[in-house]
Amino acid sequence: MSDYLGAHMSIAGGLHKAIERAVAAGCGVVQVFTRSSNQWKGKPVSDADAALFRRTFTESGLHEVISHDIYLINLAAPTGDTREKSVAAFADEMATCARLGINKIVMHPGSHLADSPETGLERVIAAFDHLFEQTPEYQGLVLLETTAGQGSNLGRHFEELRTIIDGSKFPQRFGICFDTCHTFAAGYNTATVEGYAGVMEQFDRILGLERLQCFHFNDSKKGLGSRVDRHEQIGQGALGLEPFRFIMNDPRFVTVPKILETPKGDDDSMDRVNLALLRSLVQ
Ligand SMILES: [Zn+2]
Ligand SMILES: [Zn+2]
Repeated sequence: MSDYLGAHMSIAGGLHKAIERAVAAGCGVVQVFTRSSNQWKGKPVSDADAALFRRTFTESGLHEVISHDIYLINLAAPTGDTREKSVAAFADEMATCARLGINKIVMHPGSHLADSPETGLERVIAAFDHLFEQTPEYQGLVLLETTAGQGSNLGRHFEELRTIIDGSKFPQRFGICFDTCHTFAAGYNTATVEGYAGVMEQFDRILGLERLQCFHFNDSKKGLGSRVDRHEQIGQGALGLEPFRFIMNDPRFVTVPKILETPKGDDDSMDRVNLALLRSLVQ
């Protein structure tokens, strides 16, 4: 496929299987977890597995493969066990991506828990100063994801993401992943023509559109400003089709990966339905 639409794919059976699944579903890009998403320690990736992954990707015709960090990681956590494990797991993720030839890692900024958001943001900044210094083999980007702001999750305001970039010793290493469900749930109304234009203008002013390096394409089960993160099939939720029509036809985003994270059944058939629907929106 020549476009930059794709989906998150399972690595069951081997990392390279995700690429095969993406090709079979008609994707132009793909997102993966490089490890089991509910365990702190991933199974080490052998040299043979890394080589197979690289070869499968090269031969696939896909434009990009993107990694998503595991949800256990909280780089905004205070000093202690969770923080130690989070930093170690993210360092391992960076090293693994370097070996796999992956140049973008999407991550959730984390939860500030009992402390203030400002304290949480300072911890994220400190974690990345350490990580970029300690893991020089990874030369790619870290994409901070916009979040719904559920609980004490950081990242529901573009300004919070800007604070991380501004505070970092390595500002050029950050991009942003714009999740359509999360931003809407956080209160950014992209569902009308004027709303969409305004949100993108804000994004550009606060973060810079050149940092927008990935979209997560999800409809939202919950409404504008609900701060609840529940993904829905494209066009079947509170967002409807319009935001997707706007993005699919926005010349600024033609080569920005757009990744489905919508609910799957036993196979990838809903991805095919959503991909076909999204492609039908292109005018
Ligand atoms: Zn997402
Ligand atoms: Zn989500």
